[in-house]
Amino acid sequence: MKDRMNDLVNQLNQYADAYYRLDRPVVSDAEYDQLYRELVELEEAHPDLVLPNSPSHRVGGKLLDGFSKYQHEYPLYSLQDAFSFEELETFDRRIRKEFPNATYICELKIDGLSISLTYEAGQLVVGATRGDGSIGENITENLKRVQDIPLTLPEALDITVRGECYMPKVSFNRINQIRQEAGEVEFANPRNAAAGTLRQLDTRIVAKRGLATFLYQEASPTEADSQSHVLDKLTKLGFVTNQDYHLAETIQDVWDFIQDLASRRETLPYDIDGVVIKVNNLAIQDELGFTIKAPRWAIAYKFPAEEKEAEILSVDWTVGRTGVVTPTANLTPVQLAGTTVSRATLHNVDYIAEKDIRLHDTVIVYKAGDIIPAVLSVVQAKRDQQEPLIIPRECPSCGSELCHYEDEVALRCINPLCPAQLKSKLEHFSSRDAMNIAGLGSSIVEKLFSANLVHDVADIYRLSVEDLLTLEGFKEKSATKLYQAIQASKTHSAERLLFGLGIRHVGSKASKILLETFTSIPNLAKADLEEIATLEGIGAVIAQSVTSYFASEGAKVLVAELELLGVNLTYLGHSLATDALLSGMTIVLTGKLERLKRGEAKAKLERLGATVTGSVSKKTNLVVAGSDAGSKLTKAQELGIEVRDEAWLESL
Ligand code: AMP
Ligand code: ZN
Repeated sequence: MKDRMNDLVNQLNQYADAYYRLDRPVVSDAEYDQLYRELVELEEAHPDLVLPNSPSHRVGGKLLDGFSKYQHEYPLYSLQDAFSFEELETFDRRIRKEFPNATYICELKIDGLSISLTYEAGQLVVGATRGDGSIGENITENLKRVQDIPLTLPEALDITVRGECYMPKVSFNRINQIRQEAGEVEFANPRNAAAGTLRQLDTRIVAKRGLATFLYQEASPTEADSQSHVLDKLTKLGFVTNQDYHLAETIQDVWDFIQDLASRRETLPYDIDGVVIKVNNLAIQDELGFTIKAPRWAIAYKFPAEEKEAEILSVDWTVGRTGVVTPTANLTPVQLAGTTVSRATLHNVDYIAEKDIRLHDTVIVYKAGDIIPAVLSVVQAKRDQQEPLIIPRECPSCGSELCHYEDEVALRCINPLCPAQLKSKLEHFSSRDAMNIAGLGSSIVEKLFSANLVHDVADIYRLSVEDLLTLEGFKEKSATKLYQAIQASKTHSAERLLFGLGIRHVGSKASKILLETFTSIPNLAKADLEEIATLEGIGAVIAQSVTSYFASEGAKVLVAELELLGVNLTYLGHSLATDALLSGMTIVLTGKLERLKRGEAKAKLERLGATVTGSVSKKTNLVVAGSDAGSKLTKAQELGIEVRDEAWLESL
């Protein structure tokens, strides 16, 4: 058992390393998942055997109460700045006066956050932010979710290393896309996004954000004799180092590298804000030493900001797949970071109001993360008699009235029949927790639309086997199967349909509560705001969203159509009283259970309405302890939390 777990951990770590660090996957995702699941099952059955370097530490969610302060054993330094070749020459003269033969290493200045990682006997024990350089914050749990940081080193070393944690441009763009679609404020740049992510209290969010690192310094005493050897050593230990560095003999050579880099900066997969120039020889570094603030042996050349002035000629409003309406400015063309820019995002209506952006204003345009430039601010000195922008009141796609919810920065089209949103509506409608129509995934939805077979969600119930047979790739058998899956979905209890309608804020849990009370969708549609808002677990935000949805013409049409097509609109589930024995309780399982498997126990508790979490805190209501329970049990006792045993669990 132990051996198998050990093998799995080693194998999975190797695969993950190939994937994340070397960018050269050696197994398929499916193969990885299968091994990973085997490991998790073994770990759930034998929690005491979980290895410290198990990849499961990277994904498991933990809710942190906050971050504690961390006193750095070796302080982090800041760097002196340079903005021109002249300043670099001054720096070089100072070095050469004492060390005429010094050479330099030029490293990219990654635009992220400095981090410090401390390993004891080869195990990651602390990951911390820089803070003021001597006291930072302990963010170990979050840094463990950054996939390319090794949890264990190949040697049992005591070592503290430093580097930069950053968000790659692809992750940044993906996350901002999601935020935009959800009507949330976008991150201004990858640096802010990385900073915001590392301060998350929910580690699951960190795991999903795709952060990455470059390590560049050994803070604890090193045996290396030059900075380039430090990089080699860090690489050997399994850290990601940036190989895009340059060894320079002269300051002119340094400058040539900077020029070269400036020309390809756009094409790098991450943001940099300059180049760090360091004396390569560590003995010389030692002799040069530090000023109060910064090392004398290094300087950071900073690129000039990529900002330009342009005039807003017009504004386009487009509606995205989730109904969020976004404004894009058409500009007088300007050269920005090597490309011609003639369009820039204005983010959302709140942003426009906050910055008071008007038509024909001269504005500052900059590049955030990747290709999409954004408008930063208005050049007030060039403001004349510009008129305010006209904010659309109707959806540019379907013409129905737009909503501006209090909790959103964006305008939103909530018409269930809006053509711009149909594809994503239908994908959601057929998804597992909604109508659960097997085989109706995004590629089939795409085909149905291009074949002009569906124009709204209800249309899928009008499809015949013959219709499906006209789609590319469908045979008699597959068409019949999909047809049957669609028909079968008609008889689900209606909370699935309610969730499937994709009403903002109405998740599957809220759908269930709403229908337990109102018993059918037509009844819910007739209910008034207060009636809904006073329900336990619902509240004003959901109530508002539900009532404005059912007030819309599109919703009335859609529900009537679904009813005509024979889709069940009634709640068929149990009443609230019988299945919510543990409703609202937060429970922690610990120790070894004799008869139940860990996963079974968890499923049982969840069926009874409890939330099962991994760590004991003040919010925990109950701890179920098996044999050999350790620190969690102790903590529960300290906090005075009720403790039960396996027999109790079985008696439920
Ligand atoms: P500054 O914040 O402008 O004083 O610059 C110092 C910061 O640059 C350090 O705290 C690091 O976070 C960051 N940095 C990024 N890349 C490097 C690098 N290759 N070497 C040293 N510092 C770097
Ligand atoms: Zn619309």
